[in-house]
Amino acid sequence: MPISFYNTLTRKVEEFKPIVEGRVSMYTCGPTVYDFFHIGNARSFVMSDVVRRYFEFSGYEVNYVMNITDIDDKIIKRGNEENRPSSEVAETFATAFLEDTKRFGIRHASTHPRATETMEEIIAHIKALVDKGAAYEVDGDVYFRVSAFKEYGKLSGKKIEDLQIGARIEADDRKENPVDFSLWKSAKPGEPSWDSPWGKGRPGWHIECSVMSQKYLGKTFDIHAGGNDLIFPHHENEIAQSEALTGEPFAHYWMHFGFLNIDNEKMSKSLGNFFTARDILEKYSAEVIRFYYMQTHYRSPLNFTHEGLEAAKTGLQKLQGLYDALEDAKTGSASFDVAAHEQRFIDAMNDDFNTSAAFGALFDMTREANTALHADTGMDDASRASLRDFLQRSCEGVFGILSSEKDDGGASSALLDGVMQLMIELRAEARNEKQWALSDRIRDGLKELGIVLEDSRDGTRWKTTT
Ligand code: AMP
Ligand code: ZN
Repeated sequence: MPISFYNTLTRKVEEFKPIVEGRVSMYTCGPTVYDFFHIGNARSFVMSDVVRRYFEFSGYEVNYVMNITDIDDKIIKRGNEENRPSSEVAETFATAFLEDTKRFGIRHASTHPRATETMEEIIAHIKALVDKGAAYEVDGDVYFRVSAFKEYGKLSGKKIEDLQIGARIEADDRKENPVDFSLWKSAKPGEPSWDSPWGKGRPGWHIECSVMSQKYLGKTFDIHAGGNDLIFPHHENEIAQSEALTGEPFAHYWMHFGFLNIDNEKMSKSLGNFFTARDILEKYSAEVIRFYYMQTHYRSPLNFTHEGLEAAKTGLQKLQGLYDALEDAKTGSASFDVAAHEQRFIDAMNDDFNTSAAFGALFDMTREANTALHADTGMDDASRASLRDFLQRSCEGVFGILSSEKDDGGASSALLDGVMQLMIELRAEARNEKQWALSDRIRDGLKELGIVLEDSRDGTRWKTTT
């Protein structure tokens, strides 16, 4: 079976047919950077990362774009609360996002565009919509004219008439129709703003994603993904704004990730069950958390529990244990059929990225391989090498759950990550306070240990030289 997955737009599992043979263009809605991201966001980011990695495993070249929403009401609110510019708030949490995704083993996207760096294109897109009659201005605000897009509602299945009834409750007289939505918001005093044909202001959230995706992937691209909560209105509006202008399909496939709840309740700060990705990474390695997420199908809700994480730790140790044992085992004479197991893994993943069935195949293989390794005949060198190669490509390449550190299920690499994060923060503090001798000592001392720090506009990264 070729790769097939559920398309929210057509409401069925469909075979994936790329626009360009051998290539995938994919856009996933990224974070709004007003805080550290939480374990619910992390689930969406990890599952999206796994989809991208599986396409690569299957031989595709993936152009993977994930935006960073760096201008938004919540960012402005936090800036006001902390008495600092909202651009600084956005910078702090955009850097934290890139650091935390790295610690989670989530690969850097081909591009992480930012809304504030795409302003020229956003304004041009809105202007073109106004020129075409699909949007209108009212005193410096611009709204999308929903009636200009006949297919509005095709993703979420909502009907304009039903939406109108709901929207009338909070009707805004300035809009022609209560369901019309904001493309450009005129600046309020003290808010960050950009010049536009409609005066100073800033874009709405939906238009940012339409423009960032099309800028990097073209008018029509293969896959658009995000959490379930984004189907309406965010993704519905993205389609309307894009297709009303281009007259062509926006994304061919729409993929949505199920929500994460904690102990069967919605995660929220007020309920005291809110965990950031950073909080969880202090207790469990990225490999354990990733494995835990992947045991549930990406479209199903996931009920997050500490018991579940503990169980994941044990399960992961079995896979890691086989990987390590294969390296240490002595040469034997029996061969082992890896190809049949690999085919089961592929069949499961091709069937709507069924990660739990893929793990079923991997665990069956692990059981049989352990038996073979412990038998008197042992396993021949070629079989051990191809088993290790398959584990490397599946568990590490696709799932990102194998650790090169032995025996601890990844805990020590998570520990090193944590220590390095602390070193980077201490060095940044030293530099802020102009303690140059101390900051140099940190950098030079790490260098002697074989760790180099690389500064960039996305923050500081580290890598080992050995
Ligand atoms: P946000 O920063 O809130 O815009 O969310 C970033 C991404 O995380 C989006 O794709 C959301 O759909 C997703 N997301 C937010 N909350 C959860 C949750 N509890 N479970 C799964 N995904 C989530
Ligand atoms: Zn988006």
